[in-house]
Amino acid sequence: MKYLFSAVLLLACTAASANLCENGQRQSPINIVVTSRQPLPPLEFNYHPAALKIADDGHTVRVRFAKGSTLRIGKERYTLQQFHFHTPGGDRIAGEEFPMAAHLLHKSQSGQLLALVVLFRSGAENPLLTTLLPLIPARADGDHTHPDVSVDAMRLLPPIQSYYRYTGSLTASPCTEGVDWIVMKQPLELSPAQLARYRKRYADNGRAVQPLHQRVVLESP
Ligand SMILES: [Zn+2]
Repeated sequence: MKYLFSAVLLLACTAASANLCENGQRQSPINIVVTSRQPLPPLEFNYHPAALKIADDGHTVRVRFAKGSTLRIGKERYTLQQFHFHTPGGDRIAGEEFPMAAHLLHKSQSGQLLALVVLFRSGAENPLLTTLLPLIPARADGDHTHPDVSVDAMRLLPPIQSYYRYTGSLTASPCTEGVDWIVMKQPLELSPAQLARYRKRYADNGRAVQPLHQRVVLESP
């Protein structure tokens, strides 16, 4: 009886998650078209180089960080947990689809999740990807630590740090909402060869754009 109850509960939870992915009102990514321009607090990055901890998580390549790299926005402080990549990039700006995006996932002390999105256009080779791409583990078998390879998430940030902000969600099931989304306005570049190398391992692992519904996208000048 106890097991039956657990099974029913599990089914109910799975159904609720599926509903949020399909019917949620605040899902990510989105197409950013109409915005509300206003002064927003600056992004105060305090990222530090760390020994590379890289994994194939089955969907993308993920680089994990121990505590210590933080992002302050106004009074709130978020700790960088990991970054990973998607192709195509997911969030669009005025309809433009980007071939790749990096998602830098953060968490505040109170448990608030914040995803910072850096978009990529095709162009020059990206030095950080040059380091990472050859080190993607051959299998999805957990973290591989490289004490001799230093990775600094600062290298994933564009020089101009104006941004869009909206309330979004996790992009994979259970599509949990209430995640803060920051999309950097200035894209970085990666070379066509780098994109092809990533796509060979993870083709089309970006989520399609979701309806905006009643949300307002904030834009810093
Ligand atoms: Zn992501």
